[in-house]
Amino acid sequence: MDSYNLLAFNSALGKRKFEYTKNLEDICPFCNRDNLEEILAEDGSIILVKNKFQVLEDAFQTVLIETDNCTDEFSTYPKEYLYQLLRFGVKQWLQMEQTGEYSSVLFFKNHGPLSGGSLPHAHMQIIGLKNIDYRSSILPEFFEGLLISRTDNVEFNISTSPKIGFSEFNIILNDLDQINQMADKIQLTVHYLLNHFRNCNSYNLFFYHIDQHIYAKIIPRFITSPLFVGYSLAQVSDRIKDIAHEIKKLYIIR
Ligand SMILES: [Zn+2]
Repeated sequence: MDSYNLLAFNSALGKRKFEYTKNLEDICPFCNRDNLEEILAEDGSIILVKNKFQVLEDAFQTVLIETDNCTDEFSTYPKEYLYQLLRFGVKQWLQMEQTGEYSSVLFFKNHGPLSGGSLPHAHMQIIGLKNIDYRSSILPEFFEGLLISRTDNVEFNISTSPKIGFSEFNIILNDLDQINQMADKIQLTVHYLLNHFRNCNSYNLFFYHIDQHIYAKIIPRFITSPLFVGYSLAQVSDRIKDIAHEIKKLYIIR
């Protein structure tokens, strides 16, 4: 790792967010659309809003609400909706980069109780960081892997050098026009994790924009290994060949 980046967290706002979330009970703030913070962009039922709680210092936090249906989930979106959603998200993300106001812009999704997310209603986050470039702590090796499929513009693999471990899935896009192919592979991976991967109910999806490429990494989440927490030692599963084989058996990959 060639760099150590530190984000400052506002504890007072964090406490307010915790209390707000705790007191919601059965009321979902993303269903209650009249009560949303400033709307930044929308496309049908997909909405980008300013995050109510800007808990990160020197950052601009936004939330992309994926759907107006509280129980919809990424792995089951109809294809046309999936493509619309990903095109919208990537467009907003790259536009925020292009403003030049940020050192870098994060684009990611949390799903499930072990993912670090606080609300179940399907959403993603786009966060502009004024002073931090996330790319300085991302190694090219994190996206190398055992090939599951490859077309002219999209590579789909399972990591041989995961960032944390044990099984991480990478989709590498060389041509933005082919983003639907990337969307298909993300959806397939998420579907695989939630339906065929031992006891998995949580995952993160991260996007990276590095050297003209767009990378997506999907990490199934379990309790984080202490070897990673304490020593930054990532681990790779000895089952990745079997997993790649199983995916090719279960799904038709175009
Ligand atoms: Zn909801």
